[in-house]
Amino acid sequence: MPQLAQRVGRAKPSAIMVIAEKAKQLKAAGRDIISFSIGVPNFLPGEHVYAAAREALQHDTGQYGSNRGADALLDAFLAHIGKLGFTGYGRLNLSIGIGAKQVLYNLAEALMDEGDEIAFAAPYWTTYRDIADIVGAKANVLHCGPEQNYKLAPAQLEAALARKPKVFLFNNPSNPTGMVYTRDEIAALAEVLVKYPDTWIVTDDIYNSMVFDGIGYHNFVHVKPELKDRLIFVDSVSKTYGMPGWRVGLIAGPENVAKAITTLNSNHITSVPEVITAAAVAAFGGPQDVPEAKCKEFAGKRDIVVNALRAIPGVVCPYPQGAFYAFPDISVAFGKSHNGVRIDSDVDLCAALLEAKGVACVPGSAFGEPRAMRISYTCPTAQLQPGLERIQAFFAELS
Ligand code: PLP
Repeated sequence: MPQLAQRVGRAKPSAIMVIAEKAKQLKAAGRDIISFSIGVPNFLPGEHVYAAAREALQHDTGQYGSNRGADALLDAFLAHIGKLGFTGYGRLNLSIGIGAKQVLYNLAEALMDEGDEIAFAAPYWTTYRDIADIVGAKANVLHCGPEQNYKLAPAQLEAALARKPKVFLFNNPSNPTGMVYTRDEIAALAEVLVKYPDTWIVTDDIYNSMVFDGIGYHNFVHVKPELKDRLIFVDSVSKTYGMPGWRVGLIAGPENVAKAITTLNSNHITSVPEVITAAAVAAFGGPQDVPEAKCKEFAGKRDIVVNALRAIPGVVCPYPQGAFYAFPDISVAFGKSHNGVRIDSDVDLCAALLEAKGVACVPGSAFGEPRAMRISYTCPTAQLQPGLERIQAFFAELS
């Protein structure tokens, strides 16, 4: 019997999908389920995006497209990142992928050989770990617990970079914590980064349009432009424009990296389809009222979620200022029981919460922090309060 490649054995099924699947089954069985599990934005792009897709369909050539991305899309992305403060980039600094996820896989292949080290903070987006495992890189996970608001400290970064990793991967705003680094915090980390010229810096900032409280989105190159020749900025239409299913991600970085991604594309995907490209051009270049309105809406929902969680005795919820996640430390429940069901871990707690109250949250261990659970608050507002009340009731019933 032939064997699968070892690489596949290193890939694990997503813990997020496991809980989402269980929630779906319970719903199909007639249970009243409120899902705080999947990180989908739950809104649709503006009508101009659909109009552009329809128009492109009318003139479809049915041909393969550019491995780098169509010029119109590259130009729209250049204008978009210009507004985010990335200046001095041209088409040759860009390349495309089927969503940020595929872009990140491509970057891992382009930047690392087997056995190379990649450093990133925990809590991390689950896929970082899997990408490292699949390409055979060694992950150096830098633990940043709730005591430090889940944020990487300059001293931690210094210790990690002293090991000369090939790549430092950074995510701001963060999935799963919703944390956003202030300009001063970014500047302090950038001071460390400039000292280690042999490490590539990848910033996965796909939630950059969802930053609350006026703190703004900041990147290392904004404060240290000299990092530009080894920093790769990753963006996507998924979260900003409510287009996760359209699958468009892009990078802006040094020309040699963009060229390497383009070469990998020529072997992996060839191109992003024409109709999707037209929709992405419209999203980046069109009116920004949908993302702006959603950002305000999420900030309001954040307040409701954080207030409800902080009202639970013993639960600690660092204050998220972006994306659409809260990541409370729920370890106060460990060692207790709910209706006779013992809770010894985040996994026990999320399973019991789903079973007893019909609320789906994702165990923090999926993100490298087993004291917490992730709440994604993109559900309709009408479900938010009842879901949170069920969580409060669950904790109140612990004995
Ligand atoms: N990076 C982070 C931090 C994410 O949360 C996600 C999706 O949840 C992605 C990348 C992947 O985004 P895309 O839909 O563009 O592949």
